[in-house]
Amino acid sequence: MNVGFIGLGIMGKAMATNLIKAGFPVTVYNRTKSKMDALVAMGAKPAGSPKEVAGQSDVIITMVSDTPDVEQVILGENGVIHGVKSGSIVIDMSTISATATRKIAEELAAKGVEMLDAPVSGGDKGAVAGTLSIMVGGSEKALERVTPVFNAMGKKITHMGPVGNGQVTKMCNQIACALTILSFAEAFVLAAAAGLDVDKVLEAISGGAAGSWSMSNYGPRVLKGDFAPGFMVKLHQKDMRLVMNFAREMGVALPGAAIAQQLLSVAEKEEDGRLGNQSMIKPLEAMAGVKARSAK
Ligand code: NAP
Repeated sequence: MNVGFIGLGIMGKAMATNLIKAGFPVTVYNRTKSKMDALVAMGAKPAGSPKEVAGQSDVIITMVSDTPDVEQVILGENGVIHGVKSGSIVIDMSTISATATRKIAEELAAKGVEMLDAPVSGGDKGAVAGTLSIMVGGSEKALERVTPVFNAMGKKITHMGPVGNGQVTKMCNQIACALTILSFAEAFVLAAAAGLDVDKVLEAISGGAAGSWSMSNYGPRVLKGDFAPGFMVKLHQKDMRLVMNFAREMGVALPGAAIAQQLLSVAEKEEDGRLGNQSMIKPLEAMAGVKARSAK
């Protein structure tokens, strides 16, 4: 099965690497061409456009930033839709609007091409380790065909129903992620204000009922003052916008998500939102007048 991969950012680079390691013939495209070099050195074939990727692939994966970007690489000039063969499967693994996803799927269906929406969770670490959780919307038959591809990138693959439902599941995931970051951040800030050793606080509470993936993975980074992105603030903010818009459509109130979104808005002011989402702690630290950092 020839696999095409479009979007070699933090996530896409690692996911495409795992596909190559699993033995798939992989064709890659990235808007900033230099990001293709490392993959080509591992054996990937470079392409000049998403259209060219589509012409050479049975399965085409997109992993770009936001809804308009997916629309551009699939439906735009030189997009996938202009080169894709009937019977191929397009898988969008970015986190984008469920409504837009359903519209893109309709346009592809008119060309005899099925689409799966398959957003992921597990962060940069999960992408490198090939242990992502993948939430899939689309037909069961298409999912069966591409399961070996998903197995090369992820560990937990869950079929959520028709196309678009993967994105709705991912929104639920993003609410929980934002709130687990907020929860450990408030705990750390209070600990620092009280003069406790924050490393010890992390050690004491991360294995108990308060523990979370966010606390175990992002907590140590915060304490080291490491705000480099696994997942950029601006991308998490993009996801919270998707969440709040969808919640409004559904008539559902999400007060916790709204608070997390406000804190991300403050964090987004720094370095144009390019810091990691663990920097949600920074506005809380500023309000408390303390910094939760390791004494080591
Ligand atoms: P990233 O490092 O910023 O990479 C974004 C990629 O998309 C880059 O390859 C970029 O190309 C490409 N791109 C953006 N707009 C484009 C356009 N209009 N046309 C063509 N290419 C375009 O972001 P990431 O962290 O890998 O995230 C990718 C997706 O995964 C996002 O939807 C994000 O929400 C989701 N996600 C991320 C994580 C995480 O922990 N990082 C976890 C789960 C899900 P250039 O190199 O040319 O800029």
